[in-house]
Amino acid sequence: VDLTEARREAEQLDARDPLAHVRDRFSIPDGLVYLDGNSLGALPVAVPAVVEHVVAQQWGRDLITSWNVHDWWDAPRRVGGQVARLIGAEADEVVVADSTSVDLFKVLVAAARLRPDRRTLVIEPGNFPADLYIADSVAELLGMTVRRVDPRDVRTVLDDDVAVVSFAQVDYRTGRAYDMAGITAAVHDAGALMVWDLSHSAGALPIALGACDVDFAVGCGYKYLNGGPGAPAYVMAARRHHATVRSPLTGWTGHARPFAMEGSYEPAPGIDRMRCGTPPMLSLLALEAALGAFDGLSMADVRERSLSLTRLFLALTDRVLAPLGFEVVTPRADDERGSQVSLAHPRAYGVVQALIARGVVGDFRYPDVVRLGFAPLYVRHVEVVDAVEHVVAVIEAGEESDPRYVVQHTVT
Ligand SMILES: *Cc1c(COP(=O)(O)O)cnc(C)c1O
Repeated sequence: VDLTEARREAEQLDARDPLAHVRDRFSIPDGLVYLDGNSLGALPVAVPAVVEHVVAQQWGRDLITSWNVHDWWDAPRRVGGQVARLIGAEADEVVVADSTSVDLFKVLVAAARLRPDRRTLVIEPGNFPADLYIADSVAELLGMTVRRVDPRDVRTVLDDDVAVVSFAQVDYRTGRAYDMAGITAAVHDAGALMVWDLSHSAGALPIALGACDVDFAVGCGYKYLNGGPGAPAYVMAARRHHATVRSPLTGWTGHARPFAMEGSYEPAPGIDRMRCGTPPMLSLLALEAALGAFDGLSMADVRERSLSLTRLFLALTDRVLAPLGFEVVTPRADDERGSQVSLAHPRAYGVVQALIARGVVGDFRYPDVVRLGFAPLYVRHVEVVDAVEHVVAVIEAGEESDPRYVVQHTVT
């Protein structure tokens, strides 16, 4: 397989790329082709110094006074405001708190309680397992029923018993993107509330929660937002719900007067009511520094770059990888795709392990998916060609069947 011409074209795309300089905002090991930013975003160069300062100065020297002097207390809202810009929400509609799983629990319970006469929760069958398990648990807790449906068919299950519909905007396995505006409108027509999980879309494509009239959203801090392992997640609640929404996790930091230490709970007036307990400050401030990597970027440009990368990969896959037994699982239409491309292959696990050994990092998703994420802030077009070249080399040498690569690790 000769990829010389493809490489020349990729080099030209990189040379013309208006966002090429953004790669310099990240610290990525030389020679590594990192295609897993959809699972753990790369390290922004600004983060280590901030974390060092927070540990040594704020924690080490200023200790508890940091809650005031370094404004730790307001950090969840401040960082929430930064996230809000990326997802098309108002700054006072987003707060950073807890993990995606916990935030989803809070939001599903809270949303369901806003529709007390309705007993059905609608989710998708293929969503990330945490979302499925949490929805089942919420239904059990509230005595509700769960209906699972492909988001594209949501209209077939909407009736006046549906309280809440909760979907991921981009499917973590296939990379399929759903129509946020259309689905949200249909859900509202049926009198239900809409929750979107933005874990695989925020930071990779423009999101217009406000324009789509979305009720609630949650999302992950450590994927395309690059907040670092275990970075806190975020909750968006539309302003119109602030007066009535009640989080089921009534921790003291969501209280109207946390330092009055009152004997009973009264929710804070705004989005702060979705907070629960003390935030993980080191992670939260690392996320804040990481979000600086988006400074000055338009999400439309970010999306254009993402599409350019995935289009190139799809074209090369058709030409070079399809004959080797790889099947594209990700939709071809640009507006139906997030920022990853997933390929089905019977020996997908071995392929991924052999690629990692070659310095091309993607991941495996059960049962047979090679998942490659093209994080639009730092992946280059030439790396798309590199990745294809390595896949070809793996298959030609049969590396994917090597015993070293077929034994599954704990984390796939
Ligand atoms: C990554 C991801 C999560 C992660 O949840 P954690 O609480 O951080 O483990 C949840 N839902 C979806 C859809 C995700 O993509």
